[in-house]
Amino acid sequence: MNDCIFCKIISGQLLCEKLGETQNVFAFSDIQPQAPLHALLISKEHVASLNNLTPQKRREILPEMYDLADQIVQDKGLRERGYRTVINNQKEGGQVVFHLHMHVLAGAKLRGHIGA
Ligand code: AMP
Ligand code: ZN
Repeated sequence: MNDCIFCKIISGQLLCEKLGETQNVFAFSDIQPQAPLHALLISKEHVASLNNLTPQKRREILPEMYDLADQIVQDKGLRERGYRTVINNQKEGGQVVFHLHMHVLAGAKLRGHIGA
């Protein structure tokens, strides 16, 4: 998608701090980190949100996101301390960028406020 910031990151039009990739998923640091490690794991293909995944794509992409999250926190030495994964879905779910992404936060005791 031409005007999607995450598509621009994947195509190299926008700079990012890359953290890793798998066949279908690309990971980089969030520009406004909310924890010492704040990674964004995005689908390489433009998919607007969880709602726009077909069941087949869901089975392809989500396991890779969890595999890459595990790899990144392991690389950073944070796996055993623990981490949080979040996918905001649609407006009421807190989604701002409409390109499917998972947040991975770690490196500090995260606050428990995740609901309304
Ligand atoms: P969400 O609310 O789940 O849609 O989260 C979008 C996230 O994208 C926010 O945490 C932003 O800080 C992050 N973000 C927006 N633009 C960029 C960018 N150019 N590079 C890295 N992260 C970004
Ligand atoms: Zn996109």
